Amino acid sequence: MKQPELTYPENVIPPLRFQFCPMCTAPLTRAVIFDDNIPRINCPECGWIQLSSDAVSVVVVAHNQQGIAAILPPDETGVGLPAGLVEYGEDPAEAAIREVFEETGLEAKIGDCLGWIYVDRTNWPGPMIQILYEAEIIGGQLKGSDEGSAQIFPLNEFPAISTPRTGSQRAMQAYLTKLGNN
Ligand SMILES: [Zn+2]
Repeated sequence: MKQPELTYPENVIPPLRFQFCPMCTAPLTRAVIFDDNIPRINCPECGWIQLSSDAVSVVVVAHNQQGIAAILPPDETGVGLPAGLVEYGEDPAEAAIREVFEETGLEAKIGDCLGWIYVDRTNWPGPMIQILYEAEIIGGQLKGSDEGSAQIFPLNEFPAISTPRTGSQRAMQAYLTKLGNN
């Protein structure tokens, strides 16, 4: 097999460091092909162009009269909010409802969007935009997932959020700011 020749910037995650065309297997090249002057990985044989975007994910402050839904990841010292990646072609608001259900067993209705943040990460899934949502818990049965158990905590007893969970921290801050402004 030919030795890889293309080098990639540090923030390109390994699964996106293509060396050969995924369509026709020809060795790829990097060249400016549009008038935006951005060098892009492309296939000189079939014209395939690698167009990667930031990953999109959602974080949800899901609440009812008992409090706010948290997940308790077993390997972390703090808690997190339900969160996950938006699937290709999926509306982020629907992804938010889906993630709340998958990670807590609760049915939720999306309320306000609390903003978004950009997270410059070099590990999977790479640079990421996180959309922060507020949602009302309207039903379901509280249960955990492979992310850990799930629990509803009253706002004033909500545990510390895990340090790496930037999106959960920012979503909670935005939610508290919103409550303070009402
Ligand atoms: Zn090709």
